[in-house]
Amino acid sequence: MRAYPQLFVILLSLAWSGCQTPRPLTFAPRAGDEIVVAGRLFHTGTRVVTWMDAGGYDAYRVERRFSPLDESGWDKTKEVVKGVPTPNRFGLRRDVLTADEAERVRGGGWDVATLQQHVDQFVIHYDEAGFSRNCFKILHDLRGLSVHFMLDVDGTIYQTLDLKERAWHATTSNSRSIGIEVANMGARPAGLVKILDEWYPRDAEGRPRFKVPERFGDPMIYTRDFVGRPARPDLVRGKVQGVDLAQYDFTPEQYAALTKLTAALCAVFPRMPCDFPRGADGKVVARKLPDEELKAYRGVLGHFHVQANKTDPGPAFDWERVIGGARKLLGLPSSRSEAPKSSVTNSGGGG
Ligand SMILES: [Zn+2]
Repeated sequence: MRAYPQLFVILLSLAWSGCQTPRPLTFAPRAGDEIVVAGRLFHTGTRVVTWMDAGGYDAYRVERRFSPLDESGWDKTKEVVKGVPTPNRFGLRRDVLTADEAERVRGGGWDVATLQQHVDQFVIHYDEAGFSRNCFKILHDLRGLSVHFMLDVDGTIYQTLDLKERAWHATTSNSRSIGIEVANMGARPAGLVKILDEWYPRDAEGRPRFKVPERFGDPMIYTRDFVGRPARPDLVRGKVQGVDLAQYDFTPEQYAALTKLTAALCAVFPRMPCDFPRGADGKVVARKLPDEELKAYRGVLGHFHVQANKTDPGPAFDWERVIGGARKLLGLPSSRSEAPKSSVTNSGGGG
């Protein structure tokens, strides 16, 4: 009988935990690093501002974000954005879905498992807009396009759409991919590099510093008074699609955030190995993949691997830094070639 009071306490606590429905009107906190995948939240370990958050960018809105409100609706947008097919800037991942799946998810009934079966590429872009506010304006307001993520110069990630949506960023890869626009002024042929001087003026020590020209107004960088410097101080030169290009590097804050996001995506999407297209030398293939190779390719890749007319994310993008870092976070060997030869597939666990 002496055990009875203890048993009572146990039963009471079980009953209590069994009805842990949160009380109405209580605040459900978030850590601020979550991405939204078919309505579910996944942590990334780095700051993410979603379209639902203050200061976010909402690609579900039909009206143009940076036009006067009275002139921002669909009627006016049709006139301003040539060839924009629908008020929405995104669609259904229809090409990769079975007819039954398409019927089930078309009204919003996505689940993570279905999405995991069909997403197997993560496409990296540079935005050539310089900063994310400008990127959203160009994509959403002027071109009628979209992308799941934007990564600003201070390392803040903006998610503009649930990953269940087919964003319009990489033509033939849209249905199977997730896309990110990384803020950067882009790569240029030698004769056009001078334009970058305005965006990367040198300080008293001769080091370049990222600076949005005054004419753009407040760039709305999340980190107030952020001082952005390219990870490598000098212009990085290299070939993409066989053309010599020069580009200022991304910021260390962008590399750190992208590394964590890449690791999170490779963990959430088991059909997406954490690697990039490598040549025989182990270095990135710096040109469009042949159609059949692209079709068979699963993993992280650049926009230039998808389309011959694209050079992003450019010669400065440090593939090893992002993928090597992400693999480390995932507990994988630093490159897939170091994996034991006996591993049957590379589809599990991202590696
Ligand atoms: Zn691109």
